[in-house]
Amino acid sequence: NLAERLQDTFKKLRGKGRLTESDVTEALREVRLALLEADVNFKVVKDFIAKIKERVVGQELLASLNPAQHVIKIVHDELSLLMGGSNSKINLAPKPPTVVMMVGLNGAGKTTTSAKLANLLRKQGRRPLLVAADVYRPAAVKQLQVLGGQLNIPVFTLNDSKAPVAIGRAAADSAVQNGQDLVIIDTAGRQEVNEELMAELVNMNEAIAPHEILLVIDAMTGQAAVNVAEAFNSRLDLDGVVLTKLDGDTRGGAALSVRAVTGKPIKFAGVGEKLDALEPFYPDRMAERILGMGDMLTLIEKAQENFDAEQMVQMQKKIRSLEFTLDDFLDQLSQVKKLGPLEQILGMIPGLGGAKKLKDLQVDEKELVYVEAIIHSMTADERREPERVLNGSRKKRIARGSGTSVQEVNRLLKQFDQTKKMMKQFMDMEKNLKKGGKMS
Ligand code: GDP
Ligand code: MG
Repeated sequence: NLAERLQDTFKKLRGKGRLTESDVTEALREVRLALLEADVNFKVVKDFIAKIKERVVGQELLASLNPAQHVIKIVHDELSLLMGGSNSKINLAPKPPTVVMMVGLNGAGKTTTSAKLANLLRKQGRRPLLVAADVYRPAAVKQLQVLGGQLNIPVFTLNDSKAPVAIGRAAADSAVQNGQDLVIIDTAGRQEVNEELMAELVNMNEAIAPHEILLVIDAMTGQAAVNVAEAFNSRLDLDGVVLTKLDGDTRGGAALSVRAVTGKPIKFAGVGEKLDALEPFYPDRMAERILGMGDMLTLIEKAQENFDAEQMVQMQKKIRSLEFTLDDFLDQLSQVKKLGPLEQILGMIPGLGGAKKLKDLQVDEKELVYVEAIIHSMTADERREPERVLNGSRKKRIARGSGTSVQEVNRLLKQFDQTKKMMKQFMDMEKNLKKGGKMS
């Protein structure tokens, strides 16, 4: 795994007080191998390493105070630049509706991503219309209708037409009539890049003149995804790329090469099958994630989107003042569940990335019922200060009252304690990030 390899390399580097030139050469050699192994395009790797070398030498790094940190910062910055530097948004039409055309091969995630994108942009105040223009696979139309239904977002179809251009035009008209300001067209793909597909898309592009053409590619396919991106871009002049399945066991190569090879930014990343698993793509955060600095900003944003803001502020106050009680813990657990799989959330927190020891923190739906029962069997004092108040006989009483065992009570207390620590760490980090101290 790319992140793990790079982190190992830098751990070695950090362990050294002063760096010799050969330390740096060795570290860069390992970075190079890690990138190649992660399926990053060969030429991209070559240019990347050359740039870093240049900066390392140019900045008289070997004499600097904390050279290891400095190298890591340079690698971070260059990784981020490689992926475009900053987040790119989609082009909005000066006069609505904005028409977005989703293109890509079969199975890349076009239909799912169309629905996810509509969902995401609706949260930002847009009124989306989904358009089923994958005319070759009847199941694809149905699929989009189901997804639209789940999200309560309208889906435009033309039953009697097999012409994507006609569908696109009719959809845009319908959007104008119904006050929808965003039209997302799910187009047909093929198993592989071929002339039939390209001619069809070029034709659609000319006839419909979308404001944005987004290519959807599957991160799991690594270098192949980059080749696909190059092929599409040469015919369609893409506006951006959506990289899907970044939640899977990808080697990360596609994320690092796409921008460098095509010159087109990754605008969104798909990180799961659920309809809220689409994130704006932030190169600097991705670089942080790869280098094991976690991804605090994404996490914080996600938390803000899902948490009740007022409750969040209260919770933060409590944690800061160390008044976080078991009652709050219970609230917290039910809220955290809304964020998504706990493992994925925790993976974004620096230092907690090695998800194995996190098993202790896992709480599933069934367990939540027990947790609730245990906490409800406690007195107000016990909930407020379990460490101080709880002894063996009280624990027995609680176990009996909740139909659990003393062991389970202890386990809950341990989880509570760990959560408290983690929250504290989380707050400190958030503070640091706000100060702009990204590297730690
Ligand atoms: P299309 O043929 O390009 O329209 O692809 P679909 O939208 O039908 O997606 C193909 C499969 O990939 C479906 O099973 C999706 O659930 C899955 N998929 C799409 N995006 C993601 C993602 O970001 N993560 C994961 N894990 N699966 C995804
Ligand atoms: Mg589809």
